[in-house]
Amino acid sequence: MTSSPDVIVIGAGVLGLCTAAELAGRGHAVTVIDPGGANASSIAAGMLAPALESLLDDLSADRAALLKRARDLWPAFAEAHGLTLHREGAEWRGPDAAAAIARLLSLGFEARAARGGLTTPDDWRIEPATALAALARTSGVTSVRGRVARLTADTRRWRIEAEGGRTWFAPTVVLATGAAAAIPGLPEQVAALVDAIQPIRGQLTPIAMEPPRRAVRAPGLYVAPTASGAVVGATMEPGRRDLDPDAQEAQTRVEAGLALLGAAGEAGPSRVGIRGAVADGLPLAGASGEIGLHLALAPRRNGWLLGPLVAAVVADGIEGRPPAPDAAALDPLRFA
Ligand SMILES: Cc1cc2nc3c(=O)[nH]c(=O)nc-3n(C[C@H](O)[C@H](O)[C@H](O)COP(=O)(O)OP(=O)(O)OC[C@H]3O[C@@H](n4cnc5c(N)ncnc54)[C@H](O)[C@@H]3O)c2cc1C
Repeated sequence: MTSSPDVIVIGAGVLGLCTAAELAGRGHAVTVIDPGGANASSIAAGMLAPALESLLDDLSADRAALLKRARDLWPAFAEAHGLTLHREGAEWRGPDAAAAIARLLSLGFEARAARGGLTTPDDWRIEPATALAALARTSGVTSVRGRVARLTADTRRWRIEAEGGRTWFAPTVVLATGAAAAIPGLPEQVAALVDAIQPIRGQLTPIAMEPPRRAVRAPGLYVAPTASGAVVGATMEPGRRDLDPDAQEAQTRVEAGLALLGAAGEAGPSRVGIRGAVADGLPLAGASGEIGLHLALAPRRNGWLLGPLVAAVVADGIEGRPPAPDAAALDPLRFA
């Protein structure tokens, strides 16, 4: 038996680790439990892209403003946790650039015409693997390897049992398990929320090449810079959880990505991750309805963009602070 930190976070993806770092920064002792290895967060492209996500997903003005506010939390969050933000903007190439620019301006973003499309300074980027490692090292955060096999209520605290039998008790638990199925023992109503999360498979492929100056997006495609070149992505395949890369898809997309940039490069092994999403495309972040059990789940394809917002909303809920203006939109019980 091991006894208790203030908060146990289950899952070390971007939502679990941003929440753990936020809570540690507010003075809580936090333990994060995760089996280790790749997850959706570690393989992602790391674009913090309120402008082009709003354009390409044809989001409402309200939703675009929420994404922009989420992005605006990044500079202070990155500074507090020693993360490097890349604020070089992003580029979109495709038909009818004038209409796309007008749409972005109407949503409150900056945009101007550029070769075959537009550029916007509003979309930024982070290196996912480096950022996850830095967040896990936050003072006050303890990382433990393990897969939680059972989570049960136990008089005013939660009992968390990992495969192999190691057990923790904590008054507060944050469930940040990505697109995984509900952990056995969860109260029925919370298990139903978790099991309603839809998996969306995504594949991207690294390319060894001279990194582009900034992320370049086009219909059905993006090429984003990385420390060692670029990644080209990404598929959106609802309902799929299988992790084997599709070589044909990768080859087609790599060729299209290199053609988009007019560049040469060598593709590496493709990576697949499973995003979790609910009907309205926003995360489930905040109190679950069960005392001491909080959720940080289902950010669809904007988990990195939304990380600090989810972390702040969950931490406020744990501390019983007045909810932030965006908390209602993320409330896990909003569909009830
Ligand atoms: C190809 C691709 C590209 C993407 N690009 C971007 C992008 O550019 N910008 C952006 O904002 N977002 C992007 N995303 C989306 C983003 O990656 C996801 O929204 C985000 O990673 C989800 O984070 P998460 O913390 O919810 O889940 P995950 O990253 O999946 O983390 C969940 C963790 O929980 C752990 N876990 C599950 N069950 C248990 C258990 N029982 N016990 C212990 N641990 C458990 C898992 O092992 C995992 O480590 C991309 C996604 C994909 C797939």
